[in-house]
Amino acid sequence: MKYDVIVVGGGHAGIEACLAAARMGKKTLLITMLVEQIGAASCNPAIGGLAKGHLVRELDALGGEMGLCTDATGIQFRVLNASKGAAVQGSRAQIDMDKYREYMREVCHNTQNLEVYQDEVSKLLLNDDATQVCGLETKLGEIFEAQKVIITTGTFMRGLIHIGEKTYDAGRAWELPSSTLSIQLKELGLNVGRLKTGTPARIDAKSIDFAKVEEHGGDEKPTPFSFRTDKSTFNPTQYPCYITYTNLNTHDTISSNFDRAPLFTGQIQGSGPRYCPSIEDKVNRFAERDRHQLFLEPQTSVCTEYYINGLSTSLPIDVQKQMIHSIEGLEHAKIVRYGYAIEYDYVDPTELKHSLETKKVKNLYHAGQINATTGYEEAAAQGMIAGINAALSIDGKEPFVLRRDEAYIGVLIDDLVTKGTTEPYRMFTSRAEYRLLLREESADMRLSHYGHELGLIDDETIEKVNFKVKTINEAVEYMKSEWFTSKKENLELLEKLGQDKIRDQVLLIDIVGRNTIATSHFDELVPACKDLDTYLKEQIIIEAKYYRYVEKQKKQIDKMKRMMQLKIPENFAYKDIPGLSNEAVEKLEKFRPPTLFNAGEISGITPAAVDIIHLHINLLSKK
Ligand code: FAD
Repeated sequence: MKYDVIVVGGGHAGIEACLAAARMGKKTLLITMLVEQIGAASCNPAIGGLAKGHLVRELDALGGEMGLCTDATGIQFRVLNASKGAAVQGSRAQIDMDKYREYMREVCHNTQNLEVYQDEVSKLLLNDDATQVCGLETKLGEIFEAQKVIITTGTFMRGLIHIGEKTYDAGRAWELPSSTLSIQLKELGLNVGRLKTGTPARIDAKSIDFAKVEEHGGDEKPTPFSFRTDKSTFNPTQYPCYITYTNLNTHDTISSNFDRAPLFTGQIQGSGPRYCPSIEDKVNRFAERDRHQLFLEPQTSVCTEYYINGLSTSLPIDVQKQMIHSIEGLEHAKIVRYGYAIEYDYVDPTELKHSLETKKVKNLYHAGQINATTGYEEAAAQGMIAGINAALSIDGKEPFVLRRDEAYIGVLIDDLVTKGTTEPYRMFTSRAEYRLLLREESADMRLSHYGHELGLIDDETIEKVNFKVKTINEAVEYMKSEWFTSKKENLELLEKLGQDKIRDQVLLIDIVGRNTIATSHFDELVPACKDLDTYLKEQIIIEAKYYRYVEKQKKQIDKMKRMMQLKIPENFAYKDIPGLSNEAVEKLEKFRPPTLFNAGEISGITPAAVDIIHLHINLLSKK
């Protein structure tokens, strides 16, 4: 049983990894614990959100599945921050989590070159000096050979569930943990640590008093996630979510049981997600708050079970019951599943190269929550990159590495492999230095050409993207060359459109790029483009709004690229530079990178350290 690529784990990372490798023509095997749990949403029934929506769109532009699956199974679509600029908007969708799983399972079963097998991977098989993986063994004793192995085990490695004083071994509620793999990874010299995450209770819809909670609907005109979904026919049924709040009673119940909370008693050792804290953590840290907002989210379109977003907890079940019943609308709520926390093993992501191959064990890749991230989207993005790189490596090709100025995926992986993390890492728009360039809606124009070169985006799709890019570029160039003068007709037009007047002539792009310009104004301002499709006009307006900032950022990037080519003198005395950590000095002296770029490639050498070296090279040259 020989494969090119074996992917361990059918979660969000594993799915994208195995699909990418198989679609790139590699004989691929997905081994996962429960086939019906392929694509399971362990926590909230939603995909996307701020910065996470960017990841899904980028994944989609490269030929990933998550966006298409969300469009097919979504039950409420919203654009978050819709009133703010395009760079910080984020698409989010509630999904029918059962249909999502079914969709992903069917895609995996029906993809050419891909086989699916249910078992637990218990051991990696290595070459004689244990520097290279060459296959694996399962709990049932099956042996598989592989050129590349991608591990995407999520929260399963030595998973330990906590509900109050009760604990049990599991990868996710009532699913078996992966008990031996992380022990072996540690023995191989990889730095293995422990993290924690948690999930709230799910309640029965029939027991919610919907009259007491606030309805929270989707967008009037839902926007699909995938650039390959036809916008004009996209019209999913939008199911509502509901809003309610905790109150002082709830907080009293929680705080009077802190002594039974595994988070505070020392029972839980691993760090949890800072930006997705449990309710006991919130009540403890923000004691002055008299309420916390909660969203009741349907888990499926048949709506029998609701997820209480914002109430993640590992408190004992009697406390969970009491706190839920103290909340307006949930006084008689019947609990279907209790909330819990889970501790699990992860591998320090600085053990990885940018390709997501481990540095110590050749041909072994890690993607998803095993790399200390949290979230389906972060996992899927890494999975796809690992799958692509495993396939490229078999063909003897250079790894596919996205830069920080090209994609959030580039930011995510660069952050992980160069800085590492000691707590679950989630994506934020603030992590991207060039976020004006990395807008969600431009992901196809930024990345689809890579997807096409890799064989993951078909000819028809790339032709559409190329047409879009060409049309938008031509329109932008036109608006940059046309003067909008202060002649009478122009002033009248501005007045008619409710726009501020101009005194002197300005470039047409500066009028179209005003914040107050809407799509309905476009035809009169740019009659030359009036026959274009509405989505192109909308995109041209966005480009006009951002073009000055984007030009500035592009100049910064060029400057940075030139800076990174700067040569570091051979005998450069790193130890004499104040501000560099001992670890950085040690590594820089060991590797003696020839350029700043090479210095930045060394694990643990942060962009701030590169800046410091740059500054000192400049100072030396002035002496
Ligand atoms: P997973 O989706 O966990 O998939 C791992 C897969 O690997 C599973 O299919 C499993 O069966 C398989 N597997 C594991 N070990 C083996 C093995 N040895 N052999 C074969 N197969 C194996 N994310 C958030 O963004 N916010 C949250 O608040 C949040 N809360 C969470 C709470 C809980 C309780 C849990 C469990 C997860 C939570 N998550 C949350 C995380 C989210 O579920 C993950 O980030 C995401 O699912 C990770 O995707 P993944 O593909 O890395 O792993």
